Amino acid sequence: MVERMTNPEFDTDNRFGGFVSERARQRLVESLRDKGITSEPVLAAMSSVARHEFVEEALKSRAYEDTALPIGYHQTISQPYVVALMTEILMAGRSRVTRVLEIGAGSGFQTAVLARLSSRVFSVERVGALADRAREHLQKLDIRNVSLRHGDGTHGWPTRGPFDGIMLTAAPERVSESLYSQLAEGGVLVAPEGDTYQQRLLYWTKTNHSILRHKSISVVFVPLRPGQVQ
Ligand code: SAH
Repeated sequence: MVERMTNPEFDTDNRFGGFVSERARQRLVESLRDKGITSEPVLAAMSSVARHEFVEEALKSRAYEDTALPIGYHQTISQPYVVALMTEILMAGRSRVTRVLEIGAGSGFQTAVLARLSSRVFSVERVGALADRAREHLQKLDIRNVSLRHGDGTHGWPTRGPFDGIMLTAAPERVSESLYSQLAEGGVLVAPEGDTYQQRLLYWTKTNHSILRHKSISVVFVPLRPGQVQ
């Protein structure tokens, strides 16, 4: 307790406004660099989004640790390293893209990071209460280039495609092939795939109208579920 009161990083009045969160965030971004994230636009996007705004009060002090945290409804806000890695894969060396689809908005944190790098982000969330909360979080940060829909995103959002990037933040056993056709030429689809216990981050690139599949690291995500709930 004494330490908290004397340590300026635990400034009592405004622990998560301005200065304090800013420093913690910069440290987190440096650790992402150490872990191998090299894309400057992605690192800049990660450093510009206040993750503490996406978690409940009791977890704000942990918002800049590189860990997943609960957001209710048995769902989690993804680990920052995984958010950065998936974003880097999706961007594929491009510093900006036009349209991105996210499936599984959750807290809206990954949505916000994508919104820094894309002219427009389309996001689908199956839990209505989380979709509402994600919209509030984005509004609070004045992020306006996001269309967030409550619904089942298993098969994407065909009427809004094609997309320069598609990201699943929940794991299907197999990624629906209907998503490939929603990718623009040069686009990247990135998704965890597998069962509850073992998943692999995979990505597909579309060039010359053919799709190539690539493997990345092992990951743990919540499962992609069909249907929608309030
Ligand atoms: N990117 C989010 C991760 C949220 S966890 C974040 O950083 O906060 C994954 C989310 O996917 C959960 O909110 C879950 O409700 C949602 N989800 C699961 N199946 C879905 C589906 N079929 N369509 C849309 N969203 C889904």
